[in-house]
Amino acid sequence: MSIIFGINMSMTNLSRLNDIGTGTCPTPGHGAYTTVYVSGATTVFTNNLPQMIVGTIGKQSCGHSSTALSGSPTVFAENKPVHRINDIGVGGAGDTYVSVSASSDTEAGG
Ligand SMILES: [Zn+2]
Repeated sequence: MSIIFGINMSMTNLSRLNDIGTGTCPTPGHGAYTTVYVSGATTVFTNNLPQMIVGTIGKQSCGHSSTALSGSPTVFAENKPVHRINDIGVGGAGDTYVSVSASSDTEAGG
């Protein structure tokens, strides 16, 4: 269980294709980045956008790619936890990003 699990036990907004996360890349010359989600569930949509799930990919502004790592413990799409605002992922250099944007009207339990 992640730190987020303990902090946020309420319903949490769902992150979708084109939503973003933010982190800091440890690679020299990279630094603070935004990752834009570029892949999502192929059969599950939120607000008509592919739903982000654990394992889906983001493109970091520093040039690396990120992978969604945490999601709802109770809500799944394509058998994987749905990725939500405040969930985390791993950056291409092994760092951690936090998901910071999501649907304003669709939530999943956490
Ligand atoms: Zn980087």
